Amino acid sequence: MDIGFFGAAKGVTGSCFLVAVGESRVLVDCGFFQGQGYCSDKNYQEFGFNPETIDAVVITHTHQDHIGRLPLLFNRKGKPTIYSTKPTRDLSQLILDDGYNIMVEESEKCGRDPLYRERDVEAVFSSWKGVSYRDPVEVAPGVTVTWHDAGHVLGSSFVVVEGDGKKVAFSGDIGSEGVPILHDTEALPQDLDMFMCESTYGDRLHDPPTDRLNKLRDAVIENHKKRGVLMIPAFSIERMQEVLFEMNIIVDSEGIDPGQVYLDSPLAISATRVYASYQEELELDIPQGFVDNDFFHFKGLHVTETVGESKGINNASQPKVILAGAGMMNAGRITHHLVRYLDDPNNTLLVIGYQAVGTLGRKIVEGQSPVKIFDYSVDVKAKIVRIDSYSGHADYDKLTRWVKDSTVKRIQLIHGDEEAMIAFQKHLLHQGVEEVSIPSEGDWITV
Ligand SMILES: [Zn+2]
Repeated sequence: MDIGFFGAAKGVTGSCFLVAVGESRVLVDCGFFQGQGYCSDKNYQEFGFNPETIDAVVITHTHQDHIGRLPLLFNRKGKPTIYSTKPTRDLSQLILDDGYNIMVEESEKCGRDPLYRERDVEAVFSSWKGVSYRDPVEVAPGVTVTWHDAGHVLGSSFVVVEGDGKKVAFSGDIGSEGVPILHDTEALPQDLDMFMCESTYGDRLHDPPTDRLNKLRDAVIENHKKRGVLMIPAFSIERMQEVLFEMNIIVDSEGIDPGQVYLDSPLAISATRVYASYQEELELDIPQGFVDNDFFHFKGLHVTETVGESKGINNASQPKVILAGAGMMNAGRITHHLVRYLDDPNNTLLVIGYQAVGTLGRKIVEGQSPVKIFDYSVDVKAKIVRIDSYSGHADYDKLTRWVKDSTVKRIQLIHGDEEAMIAFQKHLLHQGVEEVSIPSEGDWITV
């Protein structure tokens, strides 16, 4: 079995690995390079392999950096069959439809041809098959793949690829501990010849997850007392459903009055419907004795799908809570609410996710004031509260325990910044793993 690295090598995004067994060619993920948007040269570059030779694409989970270049693959004459868990397929439809519109807008702005056409997105979904966890599938002659729960987002997986008598696992992204709505990450198989391990937080440890519900509850209660506006920007998929689930506990189980609550993100609204339709794939940490039919909906929650409904939030009485995309506040409906409410000390901005350098969210948490939003200069007077325990990725402590519970001796580090990879490499070697390598883009290895 030969494995080529075509993305997320010495970098966090663009996940794409080519597995060659005999004549069969299988990709694991086909992600978009994030950071500088769709217009970046990286996304316009050729793949580094001939798309027409690819028999199948195995998808680990629904994030753009794992699926974003699938339409491009079809645009460049690829005709593979795509395989993933069923929730991943459904969520990916939302993400790629949404991503198509953003891509067209961005390419117009930067004066480039669109990366791909709408028909390419349609072609992706007409050849996408849903699979079940722990159910081996022969995706190409001589190549069998099994999906296992990674606990990162709904439907997320690490995959075990078998061929040529070898067994290799690809981590995809591994979830952090204590996520209130997902299963724990499954154990790695014991007889792996090689493991491709993500290393996003290869050099970081998270706060314990126990205090997030308490901090969210405190913010809701304080906002209600002040009759203010509590703004909670969150990623539309997974983070938003976690917040809705916890709000459901605070409001419907504990009986706390939050005032009016608005879920103001079309993508998050659609994604929540997908989450609700796959409740058997979730593991909800429900308080003892609490019975509910709908864990993402609670008293006082309004779902504002249209632009008109969203604008109507301005006229709603206070106190109110606004849950809106995007997580780093650099786009989406949250920006309009920030313009309106950020300059009032009576209001609160609850920041629950990672804020990348250069984003509006990062500027606000670093204390910048005023900040520029559209053409407005907005004073930051609202109270800023951070909860750092909502994290999408495992820290190095969880990853190390997970790897050490298996017998794997050879590891390739992927999906991380080089600095984090080097720290994690040292750590794993110190922990007794025999071989830990950091491949570069374009490298090939034989297993
Ligand atoms: Zn991910």
